[in-house]
Amino acid sequence: MSIKKIFLDEREMPSTWYNIVADMPNKPLPPLHPGTKQPVGPEDLLPLFPMALIQQEVSMERDIQIPEPVMDAYRVYRPTPLVRAYGLEKALDTPARIYYKYEGVSPSGSHKPNTAIAQAYYNSLEGVKKITTETGAGQWGTALSYACQLFGIECEVYMVKVSYNQKPYRRHIMNLFGSQVFASPSDRTHAGRTILQRDPSNQGSLGIAISEAVEMAAADPSTKYALGSVLNHVLLHQTIIGQEAKKQLEMAGDYPDIVIAPLGGGSNFAGLAFPFLKDNLTEGKNIRCIAVEPASCPKLTRGEFKYDFGDTMGLTPLLPMFTLGHDFMPPDIHAGGLRYHGASVLCSQLLKDGLIEAQAKQQIPCFEAGVLFAKTEGIVPAPEANHAIAQVIEEAHKAKESGESKTILFNLCGHGHFDMTAYQDYFAGKLHNHELAQEVITGSIAGIQNLQPV
Ligand SMILES: *Cc1c(COP(=O)(O)O)cnc(C)c1O
Repeated sequence: MSIKKIFLDEREMPSTWYNIVADMPNKPLPPLHPGTKQPVGPEDLLPLFPMALIQQEVSMERDIQIPEPVMDAYRVYRPTPLVRAYGLEKALDTPARIYYKYEGVSPSGSHKPNTAIAQAYYNSLEGVKKITTETGAGQWGTALSYACQLFGIECEVYMVKVSYNQKPYRRHIMNLFGSQVFASPSDRTHAGRTILQRDPSNQGSLGIAISEAVEMAAADPSTKYALGSVLNHVLLHQTIIGQEAKKQLEMAGDYPDIVIAPLGGGSNFAGLAFPFLKDNLTEGKNIRCIAVEPASCPKLTRGEFKYDFGDTMGLTPLLPMFTLGHDFMPPDIHAGGLRYHGASVLCSQLLKDGLIEAQAKQQIPCFEAGVLFAKTEGIVPAPEANHAIAQVIEEAHKAKESGESKTILFNLCGHGHFDMTAYQDYFAGKLHNHELAQEVITGSIAGIQNLQPV
């Protein structure tokens, strides 16, 4: 009998997160203070994050207990299903076995609640009254809004103005969960007012929205800030995905040769891949873990490993990562969650050490892949997830050519129900592939040479 969906019993949900730092051959370099170029200490981060999350950020412990209230909240939508993509396999006429882990069943439709719930919980334990954050198209803002109301915390979201106006549905969901949502740049912060003075019609950017959220949190002791990707503790919380997938594949009697996920900041890739990478690092296994980025924002494949700011305005500590430079402005592609100039410190170090692989994909073939997936598997993928699917299809074709029966696992990190304008634009022929000139990248990276420690 061929099983389509592999469900894990609630009682078998993993009860710890996996911290890959314990098993990394080269530990991540420390974040640096931009002024002194000295490592930042936990106390430097306290105005923005609760102590429990700062401790997770620097932890070397391999397995970190998931608190019971977080487990309870996870049980609303976890364990998520692992699905064998028979329909896609058949359409590709491939001997490869293709599985996907489906995170779109969460309250916000993506993997983001896995960390939003944990972050809201730890903030509530330390008496935090309000959390500020930024959001682009709204995936992260929705997840955090849901999580904050679970734990009785107010949530204030700075949403990039162009999305605030063009994509009202996610904003309405954030309001439904009780959050206040402001179009950024706003007149509520110094950062926002400065930008509006210079350019009253500024449509905003993630960098500006981060600056506004950070400024509001820093100004009030009972308010903290939350980030939905990039940081070590965020990646840690997402490892529930891969640990579940491992158990589910075992139930199917299978084991992956290739693990694939899209990469914006690195959290859903890490979430799926790190628990498998553990087998490479500790048991001599040889799984290929491939992070897929957009060709229009290619930090992993064309960026450089350097110290750089995490935000556009230069408010964060300097992080050692693959980056295109914090001034890099990616073309306006439809996978909004992947338009970030850098990659998480953990993913960057692993790539530098040759322990993971990276690929870049143009957006039109990604939408082609997403449409084929929707037709054959019945789920409309988020445009971000289409990058993984395009890579899966490439690997499935290679398996066909070589006649090898590979097992491929990928992260269907979200559904695309709020991204139908993107699909509409694709069908209307309005999308373009972007050839990114090398001068643009070189120029933008030249701008961060002065940030490097000597
Ligand atoms: C936010 C988001 C991403 C990108 O963020 P990562 O931290 O790299 O996972 C990818 N897909 C979806 C659906 C998202 O919401």
